[in-house]
Amino acid sequence: MKIAVDQVYENPTRFTGEEPSGILELSDDPTLHLTGGLRYDIEAEAIPGELIVRGTLAISVDFHCSRCGGIFSQEVREPGFEVVLAYTDEHALVDLTDEMRETMILAFPAYPVCRTECRGLCDQCGVNRNEATCKCRPPADSRWGVLDRLDMRK
Ligand SMILES: [Zn+2]
Ligand SMILES: [Zn+2]
Repeated sequence: MKIAVDQVYENPTRFTGEEPSGILELSDDPTLHLTGGLRYDIEAEAIPGELIVRGTLAISVDFHCSRCGGIFSQEVREPGFEVVLAYTDEHALVDLTDEMRETMILAFPAYPVCRTECRGLCDQCGVNRNEATCKCRPPADSRWGVLDRLDMRK
């Protein structure tokens, strides 16, 4: 989105609306699907030489759970969007698209989980442990335990 400096010069102005989700450049990401536009609720004010913008960004996303692979919907919200951009022309149209994209992407979870208690998939048989239990033994720990004991015998 673009803000006209002369419209908000020493005149804090609220803008609400939606930008197309394409500005986030995430359409190739196989782990998520954006299900709506990027919503903004911001206040902008220009002072000599600088445009100051603060507000909230939000977008609805279908994520693949990083533990169980299930798809779940979540709204990603960033209430702390804040940018200060220098301008030289007092009739400038200042483009906020790059700042919106960067701020919004940083708010995305690195390892989205469908719920905090998601038990994920069994790493041996692949069963979804939220839905079923399997008889696989817990891996690794017990085997390392044996090695530790062997080492101690040397
Ligand atoms: Zn999950
Ligand atoms: Zn299993």
